[in-house]
Amino acid sequence: MFDAHAHLHDPRLRASQEAWLEQATLTGLTGICSCGTSPADWEATRTLAHHPFPFRLVSGFGVHPWYVRDLPTDWQEQLEAIIVQEPTAVIGEIGLDGLKDTTSWELQESILRRQLTLAVKHNRPVVLHGARAWGRLVEVLKSYANQLPGFMAHSFGGSLETLKEISRLGGYLSFSGTICNVNATKVRLAAQAVPTDRLLIETDSPDLFPLGGNTLPNDKSDKPVNHPGNLSLVCNTLATLRNLSPEIVTKITVTNAKRLFG
Ligand SMILES: [Zn+2]
Repeated sequence: MFDAHAHLHDPRLRASQEAWLEQATLTGLTGICSCGTSPADWEATRTLAHHPFPFRLVSGFGVHPWYVRDLPTDWQEQLEAIIVQEPTAVIGEIGLDGLKDTTSWELQESILRRQLTLAVKHNRPVVLHGARAWGRLVEVLKSYANQLPGFMAHSFGGSLETLKEISRLGGYLSFSGTICNVNATKVRLAAQAVPTDRLLIETDSPDLFPLGGNTLPNDKSDKPVNHPGNLSLVCNTLATLRNLSPEIVTKITVTNAKRLFG
């Protein structure tokens, strides 16, 4: 299985690396795309990029919409320098966010566009965040999509119309543990509607702990820490929703991840 979106540098996962690695290996995990979110975590993301994990690690660098305020003036130069030095890195997690409502759309969009331009310039795939902003995000993407080598909408939660637009633009749609909640009707319908060759699965570890997920030993936090070992639950749920076997879902999503990340 390929976990198309996680944040392995997060201190909550770093503290329990042995434990989640053991669980993830048991479930047959073969790859993870792990993304930084601001200049503050790019160095930690980079250190992990060179760690000898027992699976393939694709690293991403970018400014998440939650962190577009108070960026150092040279953030773009810093990002470009890392991208040049890490030839297999992708650009992400970047995007637009309508959940937190703390930053203007103008600022979010301007930081997003600059990073998309960088992705085009260096021919890198992009990992996108679009919580409560999928429609807006698609509008921005239209001017970049055909120049990008690929892009994915992580933890997709938009409408069926937006889903169609994203696949028409050549993007991939990734589903997280949210689909394990039977009341998440909109997301579950979307997970059923995605064309097979556009489908990905993810955990978004350490966030989005799925209903029925495995907690890590010694995890005493109120909000359990999600980890890549829970990807099998997302895979099994998607298999049920699409009336396929987990093995077929694994095969489909691993093939799609390879096509996207190279
Ligand atoms: Zn994320």
